[in-house]
Amino acid sequence: MTVAKRMLDLGKQSSVIREIFEYGLKRKAEIGNENVFDFSLGNPSVPAPAQINDILKNLIDSVPAEKLHGYTSAPGDQNVRNAVADYIQKTFDFAATPELIYMTCGAAAGLAVCLNGLTTKEDEVIVFAPFFPEYRVFVEHSGSKLVIVPCDENNNFQPDFVSLEQAINAKTKAIIVNSPNNPTGTCYDENTIQKLAEILNQKQKELQKPIYILSDGPYRELVYDIKLPYLPHHYDNTIIIYSYSKSLSLAGARIGYVFVSPLAKNANDIFAAICGAGRSLGYVCAPSLFQFLIKECIGLTADLSIYKRNRDLLYNSLTNLGFTAIYPSGAFYLFVKSPLQDANKFCEHAKKYEILLVPSDSFGCTGFVRIAYCVSTEQIIKSLPAFEQLAKDFDLLP
Ligand code: PLP
Repeated sequence: MTVAKRMLDLGKQSSVIREIFEYGLKRKAEIGNENVFDFSLGNPSVPAPAQINDILKNLIDSVPAEKLHGYTSAPGDQNVRNAVADYIQKTFDFAATPELIYMTCGAAAGLAVCLNGLTTKEDEVIVFAPFFPEYRVFVEHSGSKLVIVPCDENNNFQPDFVSLEQAINAKTKAIIVNSPNNPTGTCYDENTIQKLAEILNQKQKELQKPIYILSDGPYRELVYDIKLPYLPHHYDNTIIIYSYSKSLSLAGARIGYVFVSPLAKNANDIFAAICGAGRSLGYVCAPSLFQFLIKECIGLTADLSIYKRNRDLLYNSLTNLGFTAIYPSGAFYLFVKSPLQDANKFCEHAKKYEILLVPSDSFGCTGFVRIAYCVSTEQIIKSLPAFEQLAKDFDLLP
């Protein structure tokens, strides 16, 4: 063996979602883009706001090239970190310190540096299932153990707090909270976060140790029916992981940040460890050009109303066809009950009508499929007859 076995395995078995996406690319080349209903990937179709290109052009014209394309400080440019701190203060009325903000290559790098900075092989990290599959990769890479706590399927996949209490023990170091959620579209309201905070505070007291919430929130602005609480107001030991991939449709720019709440126990050491993890993983200095861009457009979003329109259209159409779906109050995913117990088989069957769905197994739960509705509304409208055929095949039509 000349390479690291675990990395070899990871590299060889690409993610299920990516595999379906690649299949979609092949089919699109064969039968045309418009004839494939590709709901596989959470890649925003809503364009980034037009101002983004203007700001980029202006930066290129006005900032000396050696600064624009050079390294910033490892955790990010100081002015950019100041701007992020200001934004947090103004938007969430929470006092953020720029010294606790680390600019990252999206939420993926944010999760990786937090988990590597925070945990060791003695630790456990709790995730609520279903969950973003890369959590497993990041947690396992940090050496800690992934502990899966199921959500309540009968309550829109809200956290199951009884199971959570049972899962917490002396090894629990952190819990990843993802609201709005990928893959269910479920959001946690203030009561839910309050309840979570109560349980964690009680457990911290009993166990005499801090338990950190890693709040993974790349879909923060994609909410349709509820007001999202800002977790640092509710729980001191919170670390925010944010990205501009979805809200600004800048997924390929790889830009986001980590913010350690100043109220968190050992906040300064945690931040230093995050810097150390960034260094050891080679994640220092997030792309400079996009850091500068964020400073100029902070608070701006793409036209997110399109996702709400898609949510309404798809949820109403599919439930009218007899499908059972979780009503999503955020993100751009619809989680639909598979008419077959084996969701993989159902997804294979859907390919007959060129519908590409992701089976829920890789999200740590069986019997559902995820539909990423970050596609054009026209494409959803065009896909409805194909969904009708699918519903007919499984006798779902009312
Ligand atoms: N966390 C969740 C829940 C996601 O769905 C994604 C991407 O789809 C990420 C993190 C990673 O996002 P980024 O593009 O910012 O790395």
